[in-house]
Amino acid sequence: MSALAQLLYMASATLFVLGVRFLGSPASARSGNRLLAIGMLLALGTTVAFAPRYDHVAWVALVALVGGTIGVVSARRVRMTAMPQMVAVFNGLGGGSAALVAAGGWSGASGSAAWLALLTMLLGAVSFGGSIIAFLKLQEWLRVDMRLSLALRVLGLAVVAAAVAGAGLMGASGHGGVGAALGVMAAAAAGGALLTLPIGGADMPVVISLLNALTGLSAAATGFVLQNQLLIIAGTLVGASGTILTQQMSRAMHRSLINVIWGGQVAQGEALSADGTVQPITPDDTAMLLRYAKKVVVVPGYGLAVARAQLEVKQVIDLLQGFGVEVLFGIHPVAGRMPGHMNVLLAEADVSYDQLWEMDRINPRFRDTDVVLVVGANDVTNPAARTAVGSPLYGMPILNVDEARNVIVLKRSMGRGFAGVDNPLYVDAKTRMLFGDAKHSLGALVRELETAQ
Ligand code: NDP
Repeated sequence: MSALAQLLYMASATLFVLGVRFLGSPASARSGNRLLAIGMLLALGTTVAFAPRYDHVAWVALVALVGGTIGVVSARRVRMTAMPQMVAVFNGLGGGSAALVAAGGWSGASGSAAWLALLTMLLGAVSFGGSIIAFLKLQEWLRVDMRLSLALRVLGLAVVAAAVAGAGLMGASGHGGVGAALGVMAAAAAGGALLTLPIGGADMPVVISLLNALTGLSAAATGFVLQNQLLIIAGTLVGASGTILTQQMSRAMHRSLINVIWGGQVAQGEALSADGTVQPITPDDTAMLLRYAKKVVVVPGYGLAVARAQLEVKQVIDLLQGFGVEVLFGIHPVAGRMPGHMNVLLAEADVSYDQLWEMDRINPRFRDTDVVLVVGANDVTNPAARTAVGSPLYGMPILNVDEARNVIVLKRSMGRGFAGVDNPLYVDAKTRMLFGDAKHSLGALVRELETAQ
């Protein structure tokens, strides 16, 4: 490869690293995204411009046009709540492509490059099969009888083991044409699909993140096979960030990765049985409490996304700020059902980034907070996580909302959250429950605050 091409690849890699760095903060995330897009364009342009041969140019152009159009249209049209599905599909396509490229490179490779091609075929195909199932489950197009979980997992492991054995035979003998490569990839994809089938919908973001790490690793391995440094760097970035995200999500949910993948089903919601009296509150009393508060912290959760109430939340905080109330948001790392779920929803409603405080930063502030408004969040506020040994939440860091002077919880019923456990916060003497769909309750609050001059 020419020195100029190497230089351009290095520039793309630098843009990738900077872009990922910028994605670390909501304030710079848009710029990060732009840098990554420019880096990708540069990488593609360099690859095409310096291609050693130009075969099937029309086909390549056609495929790029169709793929690019599908990418742009789906990225523009996807709803924020459907983002995990889209990530799953794109990730699966990445894994599948890496596997196919490696299969193409396998026949001409020897030594360690041949083994790397086989490894890529395995990893990429597992990621492809798993991601497609993750998409179907998140889209609710596929339901699995949980009684089949163990059988599916055992079968999945057996099929993956068969794929590994097949790849091992190909590598050791140095034989195996397109048919053998396709067979190994089909088995690996089926294994990935079978292992993903029994995983619960809400654990899917963790699985997608893990599959993303696998896709990254397979792309990096393809880079070694093709001797393409850019692919090695980009694949390693995806692999590393996917691995870190998987770890962080498991830790924030206080679950091991094995627990998520191998049968970590959590109980489903039932009526709350914690002792104590539940104290309901009306929208007008809530409005009064908020209107005369000095400091209010809003804690959003999964229910906010379900109710699509982000615009109403923004209206409430605008009105409160108009009364001179200081308003902040307390964001838990796993509030909602995907990483960054709350940040994305609130950004949609134009809530200022400066008001979004992460858990470690907001927790010391609850003690001098007058009112916490919990909007459709449950597990991430459950004080049992600090004390209830044996609870699925025990040990999970939470938002210490119970340290505030008053807590108002907006939810529809006394139903439990994702972890399926009682929340003693709801029977705490300082807590009032504003029952109803969050969008309606917040709408009622807006009307009350508008008249409370
Ligand atoms: P939870 O699932 O604990 O609670 C959400 C609450 O919202 C429910 O108790 C429900 O109560 C309420 N709710 C649902 N719909 C509405 C509505 N329309 N209006 C008002 N309230 C509503 O959510 P949290 O955000 O507190 O916690 C997230 C959970 O998801 C954690 O256990 C986390 O580990 C898990 N998780 C998070 C992932 C992530 O990446 N963020 C990934 C995978 C899992 P009711 O039915 O009474 O209305």
